[in-house]
Amino acid sequence: MFATLSDRLADTFKNLRGKGKLSEADIDATAREIRIALLEADVALPVVKEFVGAVKERARGAEVSQALNPAQQIIKIVNEELVNILGGETRRLRYAKTGPTVIMLAGLQGAGKTTLAAKLALWLKDQSKSPILVAADLQRPNAVNQLQVNGERVGVPVFAPQPGNGVGDPVAVAREAIEEAKRKLHDVVIVDTAGRLGIDAELMQQASDIRDAVQPDEVLFVVDAMIGQDAVNTALAFQEGVGYDAVVLTKLDGDARGGAALSIASITGKPVMFASNGEKMTDFDLFHPDRMASRILD
Ligand code: GDP
Repeated sequence: MFATLSDRLADTFKNLRGKGKLSEADIDATAREIRIALLEADVALPVVKEFVGAVKERARGAEVSQALNPAQQIIKIVNEELVNILGGETRRLRYAKTGPTVIMLAGLQGAGKTTLAAKLALWLKDQSKSPILVAADLQRPNAVNQLQVNGERVGVPVFAPQPGNGVGDPVAVAREAIEEAKRKLHDVVIVDTAGRLGIDAELMQQASDIRDAVQPDEVLFVVDAMIGQDAVNTALAFQEGVGYDAVVLTKLDGDARGGAALSIASITGKPVMFASNGEKMTDFDLFHPDRMASRILD
């Protein structure tokens, strides 16, 4: 990911090398090239406009510096603005002060929620937590089974509906799971909810009902970074339909151009908290805006 954007920006900065001072024309030309690079990376237009506007303004106002030449100065500005649109500071999980921390996952089918649930559980285990996974995705026939298989892979128990234990009712399953977590002294409950191929009212309602029933400490919206501009539209629809505290980007290992990663925090106002970047259970970590910006400008 970001390979083309990275190359494009590197070319842009190359043109500034050796210049003693940046003219207005240099700044305009650079801004134009950054704009094209971002649009080609599938970054949403309003985000591109804001980004380029900010870079231009800061480049014009930049003092002549002893320490940095003009190219370095622009790179520094672009780096800071990238961190900015990627959400600024690294957002960390907020744990409940008392009782188990409840994390609810929402997103479209195929976004990578079930995989992510297990990755998150493993990550939490590595932080000395004792998580439990909850199969509240009762739409897809295989979803419960898939979560159980993934749970086994990472050695984390899965609470799944039993006959007579709320089969077909994901709200009841989620509620019962919290009680089970308390009984068995699990300190984090990860609730996997149903996704559909497209956004629909029933899906949103079900997710909202689960949210109201379990009062999660964190609702995480899981989205596939490969779907480009659609990721932003889906993020906005879930924001309106369910609401969430932070975003998880999946499939960052793919050849997505990076637009989703760059646009989502800026457009939704919600930070990206985790990045999932591969099929292995350990291909997962906190999302660090500063590291991502450095990767783009590498
Ligand atoms: P769900 O429908 O949202 O629960 O999605 P799944 O967890 O079933 O994932 C859908 C597909 O995407 C599966 O084939 C996963 O192996 C794959 N997948 C999930 N996360 C990643 C990731 O970070 N990278 C890659 N390459 N594939 C992923």
